[in-house]
Amino acid sequence: MTDRLSTDRRSWLMSRVSSKDTAPEIRVRSAAHRRGLRFRIHRRDLPGSPDLVFPKRRLAIFVHGCFWHRHPGCRKASTPKSNIAFWQKKFAQNIERDELSRRKLQSLGWQVLTIWECETKREDTLYTFLKEIEKYGN
Ligand SMILES: [Zn+2]
Repeated sequence: MTDRLSTDRRSWLMSRVSSKDTAPEIRVRSAAHRRGLRFRIHRRDLPGSPDLVFPKRRLAIFVHGCFWHRHPGCRKASTPKSNIAFWQKKFAQNIERDELSRRKLQSLGWQVLTIWECETKREDTLYTFLKEIEKYGN
């Protein structure tokens, strides 16, 4: 049990390490760049270190992995069959952290948008998301 848990914990830590510059983030960044949108990435001085930040629009974007951040109703947000309690706790912590970051950003006057990993894979949802960003001015 202990070994199993530490294996899960290790893979979780590794996923955290590689959670920057993921394929979904790169898809959003390239698409935004193609539309001429100007942004900053990984502003570590902001709560939750948003994946994209549009300073003039006062807009922070999170590109969330469906599994780790629990995309509601998404089939990628499955729960592993073993160590269910471990995973449920971990997922609950992730959701809580996301919510806290969002609230802190909002209290600092930032607006927050989230795009899910599976949405970045579809041209139509990605396009709709970029249009949404543009509604926040330039
Ligand atoms: Zn999803």
